Amino acid sequence: MIVSFWPIVIVDVGGSMLMIVLSFLCIGLAHRLRRVDPQNVIWTYLFWLCMGLAGFAVSRSAGHIVKQALVLSGQKEIWAEIRPFSGAINTFMFVFLAAVTLFFERVWKIYEQVTTDKTALERAHAELLNLNQNLEHIVTERSQALAVSERQYRRIFEVSRDMILVVDSRGHIVDINPAGGRMLGFEGASETPKGEPFQTFFERTADWEELMTSILRQGFVLNSEVVLRRRNGAGMHALISAGLDKEPHGFAFSIHLQVRDIQERHQMQEQMAQADRLASIGQLSSGVAHEINNPLGVILGYTQLMLRSEPSESERFKDLKTIEKHVRHCKSIVEDLLNFARRSEPKKEKVDIHKTIEEVLGFIGQNIGSSRIDFQTDFDRSIPPVVVDDKKIKQVLINLLMNARHAVGTRGTIRVSTARRAAEGQLEIQVTDDGYGIEEKHLKHIFDPFFTTKPTGEGTGLGLSVSYGIVKKHGGEIRVKSKPGEGSTFTVVLPAREKNAGEIE
Ligand code: ADP
Repeated sequence: MIVSFWPIVIVDVGGSMLMIVLSFLCIGLAHRLRRVDPQNVIWTYLFWLCMGLAGFAVSRSAGHIVKQALVLSGQKEIWAEIRPFSGAINTFMFVFLAAVTLFFERVWKIYEQVTTDKTALERAHAELLNLNQNLEHIVTERSQALAVSERQYRRIFEVSRDMILVVDSRGHIVDINPAGGRMLGFEGASETPKGEPFQTFFERTADWEELMTSILRQGFVLNSEVVLRRRNGAGMHALISAGLDKEPHGFAFSIHLQVRDIQERHQMQEQMAQADRLASIGQLSSGVAHEINNPLGVILGYTQLMLRSEPSESERFKDLKTIEKHVRHCKSIVEDLLNFARRSEPKKEKVDIHKTIEEVLGFIGQNIGSSRIDFQTDFDRSIPPVVVDDKKIKQVLINLLMNARHAVGTRGTIRVSTARRAAEGQLEIQVTDDGYGIEEKHLKHIFDPFFTTKPTGEGTGLGLSVSYGIVKKHGGEIRVKSKPGEGSTFTVVLPAREKNAGEIE
């Protein structure tokens, strides 16, 4: 009977031992898994489950082995006594396993929640990261576009030939482009009119006030013509367009102005007007002069005839002499007029300009008597012969020198100089005096026919207009620079192309 139980005993004891071994192997495996991924709750749970199962396996298998040992050794009563303890340990182990499972079920839920939150957080973080990178990209792109556009506008501001400037609400210059600085006479890079009131560059304060009133009333002005005064005092006609730039909130504002230099255009317009005036006066006066010239000749002829038969001490002789003097004066005016109006082309020939000037100076010297006027010359002897109408150029020089002589009075210096402007193919003759000079208000009228500041009988007002006509006919120009009290400089510019001797243009 006993023998028939051996296989059961062997299987029971062997199985129990195998169970213990296997359960410990399970613990080892679960422990390894936990070490590989300590964050993973499943492995922790498996580890504790294996521990519980191992405990159960040990208590159960140890119970069976002890039981078989006690039964086989005939000590069944001892087994009967400890059997309840073995059962209790088994039950405890089951309770332990249930507790672990229950506890981990809670932990699992928390773990799941945490994992879900973590995933959401990770996704949100990734999105934020993406957004941040995009934002950086957009900001970089916009900044680059802004820099390009700013560079473009800066370039327009810097290379513009017109003056572009910004003034604040008090009219002080806040910013001005290089062309603007130059226009106002600030040449070097270190010189700038920034900070100065723009008003100070206006010739007339009324112009500035009118401009400001218009801008503040209607918000802009278009092509308003004003005269600006450069730093060196020179005037400049300019066209101003401007707009008001108001701050969106508040009362602060600035004014953006664009100023165009129209000095040259203005001068040309004046010259054209002058030429028109001269042409119409020329037409009118030539008719009148022709009509008067012949009767004047007749009066002069008869007066001279009558003078011959009069004794020089008689009263009649003196009267006739007075008539002769005044008729001669009238004739000289009429001749000037005819010269002025004559449309004949100049008879040009090859002329040594210095010889011409010296002849004129000699003639003037003889005529001015004993006054203490110092005539100086400064000739550029390298100037080759020029092709001009010698008589007419002499007339121009006489007119200029007689005016200079009048300006210096009985004492002063008159200087005649020549210079060559080879690059432009021009020759310059300058007549400078240190006489009374010309008032600015007269400057633009001195070439007008009949404009004179000399007393009646002394000036006809035709000398400069005749000279102007002659020089223009030669394809040249005549300019003047003068300051009251300091003297005047007249510059005659003539084309200096060389021609073969005797050749007439
Ligand atoms: P006129 O000499 O007969 O007055 P002009 O046409 O020669 O006529 O000159 C016109 C005016 O220009 C003169 O009346 C004078 O006021 C002024 N003018 C010309 N030359 C000079 C000079 N060198 N210095 C000062 N004023 C001058």
